[in-house]
Amino acid sequence: MERLIGKIAIVTGGASGIGLAFAAGLDREGAHVVVADIVEEAANKAAAALTNDGLALLVDVSSVESTESMAQQTLERFGRIDILVTCAAIYATLERKEFLDIDPEEWNRVLAVNLTGVQLSARAVLPAMKEQESGVIVNMGSVNTYLAPAGRAHYSAGKAALENLTKTLAREMGPFGIRVNALCPGLVAHEGTIVPKERYERIAQDRAMRREMKPADLVGPLVFLCSDESSMVTGHILVVDGGQIFR
Ligand code: NAD
Repeated sequence: MERLIGKIAIVTGGASGIGLAFAAGLDREGAHVVVADIVEEAANKAAAALTNDGLALLVDVSSVESTESMAQQTLERFGRIDILVTCAAIYATLERKEFLDIDPEEWNRVLAVNLTGVQLSARAVLPAMKEQESGVIVNMGSVNTYLAPAGRAHYSAGKAALENLTKTLAREMGPFGIRVNALCPGLVAHEGTIVPKERYERIAQDRAMRREMKPADLVGPLVFLCSDESSMVTGHILVVDGGQIFR
């Protein structure tokens, strides 16, 4: 099916992990995808694999200038912005640390990318979406918001706040025809993570669906939230975790 033909989609963090699967998935649905990532070589590689005309951009989502340039370059190339998927985050390489071992610098860096990075990305694209009177933003939450696991205080605090930002943005942007939702995944296995294999196996046993979750398992829900099939779905947190937290 091609449910996003001609749509212009920016995927932050689209060069690897879940974002890479999202870039490919939106491309398959007919969208033109802008892969916006801080790792330039990987972003170029991801964009080169797209079948529709796409774009790779070197972007640091924690920078005002960089996110504004991301929106500007997308508009110069494609003339509009229909979809923003905020996947960029410090996650896969983040070591577990007790609260007292997370120094203020690390705390601020994680929130600067994982939370402020979403604010800045949204802030950069929303003027164009408001002018178009249409647009979709999908943020990436996490079941950590509800599980509050030990060792991830900064990460979980950022994801919890992101859910609230998603709802506020949905309320404020609805009158302009813009929908804002969040996907809230459970643990996703992919090559880039430093999560030990035993953890994937243990969490798989906690799920109703007793298997590891892969980035591909999130692509269908993402496409649903980006497409007109969900035209009255906004401010929603869609948990995709194979039946772990039942929320
Ligand atoms: P990942 O760490 O593998 O990938 C993140 C991507 O973001 C990378 O391509 C990285 O280069 C990019 N990035 C990092 N900092 C950036 C910055 N400042 N500017 C632009 N790009 C930057 O993470 P992932 O596992 O693919 O997760 C993707 C999203 O899903 C994240 O928001 C994560 O919090 C969320 N999530 C992941 C899981 C999981 O188990 N993997 C579970 C729940 C939620």
